[in-house]
Amino acid sequence: MNKMLRIESIKVERDGKEIIKDISLSIDRGKIHAIIGPNGSGKSTLAYSIMGIYAPSAGKILFKGKDITNHSISERAKIGITLAWQEPARFEGLSVRDYLSISGNDIEKALKVVNLEPDRYLNRAIDDSLSGGERKRIELASIVTMKPKIAILDEPDSGIDFVSLDDLLGVITNLKKEGITVLLITHREEVARIADEASLICDGYLVKNGSTWEVTKFFRKMCGKCPSGKYSEVKNEIPRSV
Ligand code: ADP
Ligand code: MG
Repeated sequence: MNKMLRIESIKVERDGKEIIKDISLSIDRGKIHAIIGPNGSGKSTLAYSIMGIYAPSAGKILFKGKDITNHSISERAKIGITLAWQEPARFEGLSVRDYLSISGNDIEKALKVVNLEPDRYLNRAIDDSLSGGERKRIELASIVTMKPKIAILDEPDSGIDFVSLDDLLGVITNLKKEGITVLLITHREEVARIADEASLICDGYLVKNGSTWEVTKFFRKMCGKCPSGKYSEVKNEIPRSV
């Protein structure tokens, strides 16, 4: 079976407001699947729902064919679902070695996967002496040590300067080489381009699924036309699921 994750018509409410209105998609095993959409479209809410932090009010989430809609966060973590937060937790002052030891064992290998030389980084403190890109890579190394089946990366490029972007994208590609399925959440086309497949969401709806090339082209054309940064003006012209 090549489907790692299936989301079937979920709705998610927060404080009485429907944030995810109707999203269905499926993620193939071993692929990088981008979720692209403007700010406020519901991307983080979708990520938290897959991780089990928010419970959908309707619909189903299936992991390797099994319904996990009512599973707790820790049950999902145990079966191999992990999430890198948009604003990562800070472990100021902890050494890289100690930080990575929290999540797993093979820490030298994990540093190599994220292109950091273990000898140069293991004893460094996690503090402002590390660049944003180095911090992000160390956070991704902590995901590698968990040996997840699927890693949800919520805007992994935030806080990364433009120069280190290619480097970060190379690291995400390395996660895939390690056999980790990646759900790559971003509002930037230049980040989504490394994905094998993509889904565009807007205003809590799935707008388009397909090849990264098709979906990012659509995003560029349609989002550019939409003055609010959402598709509200054009929504009726767009199929909600493809
Ligand atoms: P994205 O990650 O795509 O930028 P989010 O999933 O963070 O979007 O948020 C989607 C929308 O839901 C935004 O308009 C946001 O303001 C709203 N939202 C998020 N959390 C809550 C909440 N607890 N109560 C009400 N609205 C919320
Ligand atoms: Mg977000």
